[in-house]
Amino acid sequence: MSMAANTTGSTWLPGPLMAADQKEEIRQRNDIVEVISDYVALKRAGSEFQGLCPFHKEKTPSFTVSREKQVFHCFGCNVGGDVFDFIMRHDALDFVQAARKLAERVNLRFEVSGDHAARRSERERILEINAMVSRWYHEALGQAPEAAGARAYLARRGIDDATAERFQLGYSLDSWDALLNRLRRARVTPEEGVKAGLVSRRREGTGHFDWFRGRLMFPIWDVSGNVVGFGGRALKDESAKYVNTAETPVFSKGDLLYALNLAARDISAQGEVILVEGYMDTIALHQHGITNAVATMGTAVTPRSGSTLARYAKTIVAAFDGDSAGMAAVVRGATIFQEQEIKVRIVEMPAGKDPDDWVREAGPEAFQQAVRDAVSLIDYRLNRAVREQPAGSAKITAEMVRQVVPILCDLRSEIEREEQIGRLAVRWCHPDLGRVQQAEAAIRHEVRQALRRPTRPQGRSPQASGQQAPPLRPQGPRPVPGYVRAEHELLSAMLHETKAARYVKEHLALDEWADDTCRAAAAALFAHLGGLVQTDVGKVVADAENTEAKALLSRLALEPPAMATTETRLAERIELIRDRARRKRWEEVRAEVNTRLAAGTLSGEDPLHQEYQELARHFRQGVKYSE
Ligand SMILES: [Zn+2]
Repeated sequence: MSMAANTTGSTWLPGPLMAADQKEEIRQRNDIVEVISDYVALKRAGSEFQGLCPFHKEKTPSFTVSREKQVFHCFGCNVGGDVFDFIMRHDALDFVQAARKLAERVNLRFEVSGDHAARRSERERILEINAMVSRWYHEALGQAPEAAGARAYLARRGIDDATAERFQLGYSLDSWDALLNRLRRARVTPEEGVKAGLVSRRREGTGHFDWFRGRLMFPIWDVSGNVVGFGGRALKDESAKYVNTAETPVFSKGDLLYALNLAARDISAQGEVILVEGYMDTIALHQHGITNAVATMGTAVTPRSGSTLARYAKTIVAAFDGDSAGMAAVVRGATIFQEQEIKVRIVEMPAGKDPDDWVREAGPEAFQQAVRDAVSLIDYRLNRAVREQPAGSAKITAEMVRQVVPILCDLRSEIEREEQIGRLAVRWCHPDLGRVQQAEAAIRHEVRQALRRPTRPQGRSPQASGQQAPPLRPQGPRPVPGYVRAEHELLSAMLHETKAARYVKEHLALDEWADDTCRAAAAALFAHLGGLVQTDVGKVVADAENTEAKALLSRLALEPPAMATTETRLAERIELIRDRARRKRWEEVRAEVNTRLAAGTLSGEDPLHQEYQELARHFRQGVKYSE
């Protein structure tokens, strides 16, 4: 059996990064109930605490925290772990950042080894420079005489002072070295300016120049409100209307959503996010009280930004210019959103308008109404596919059917697909009932054919759009195969009873565990098996290898024991797991034996032959076990 470590979502890097005892001290000093209480209103419920989950939207609390076990788990969205996991997830930090934050919380000295410290300080330095430059740009917009054009532009677009302040809008002086000189005075080297993406090297000779010149500046924040980069809008006729910071260690365009730091709370509260395409669209909507709007950076919707949105909202309402590249990206991103179980609805925008113009001209009520009227992504795509087609008593052509089949294939629900087929047929052929039925049959036939083909025609698989599908957002315990359930039951027994834990450790070796997550969880449990004392569940969770194992352990620790922990019952589960491994091996051996027999290369002395006979004997006797 493979012992390959499952490292997906690994959160803890062993080795020189940070001493294990330092991690343990931080964990011991930060009581999980106290830490989480800073973020979530917790109420005592029996021996535990409960509150509304900050990671998914809910009305009745399924988010549980245990002081005794020092773990949390949400039974609604299956997120769980220790105090580090909570901070990492809640504040979108990496492990070392979360550890630092928790260390500072209890006034502990915090040390990391050189390499990581250097990387971190580079990041901090860039953020520091960005924050400073953002203030300069903002001051210049308010005060510099040459920024009059920028101020006039904002006035024309109806942006008031309060909004300019809230979004820290700015102006970059129209000069090759104004910023360079200010940076020098603030003891920032040109090379540091280059790292922050604010300064460029001259292509020929030596020297540097300001990257943003004579532009209206939009600072771009991460979700914690750090300025990670800038967007600059040209105010004169220039080849590039918008210029962004180049990719830097802190600025990765595809993963960012503009104004998410300002909108996050309202998005969570409404469970809905309005996705627009530009800085000005976002700003205009916020000024008109539509404060759950964010913008994609560039035109891509990446798995990362998709999963970021999934943490805040269950519904995305896209308000893009219909013919824009951004809309095409949303349609392409359909798979990403589907994987994240996010509903996507589309606002049908008036031709040639963007949300900025629209909300300014028609007012926020009209825009809100359009948001309420937004259609599903499938409806939107079908509407577009058929808008040029004849409707009513039409003669259906193969071409008409061909245009809708790939879209219908993207629907996962059979019921929904049938509904759409019916609607299309009616649209095409109403009121001729005979033709409606013919049309339905024709579409249904083509869809079935297409679904049966190994590669769907124009079907938008994640591979087709060049993006990797993100992992599914876990939605509570799913039905699992019997052997995995047996492993869960063993883990549960081990978490609740030290005696059971010792028994399992003695009788089922680590490499016999079949499921990767269960094996990682078992490894953590084996490593921390208390002698006569109760196992320290919090420590087990803290040292588990990956987030899946942590979530599994925190869930099982907070659930009642899954089984009576008699030795007989434990032995049955262990036998069930072994039996499954044996069956798997039996399949392999049988296949190999058949091949070798056919090739005439199997002798009676062959170890394979002997293994075959042993397994055959075993399965003839049959193994009885109860579940
Ligand atoms: Zn939750």
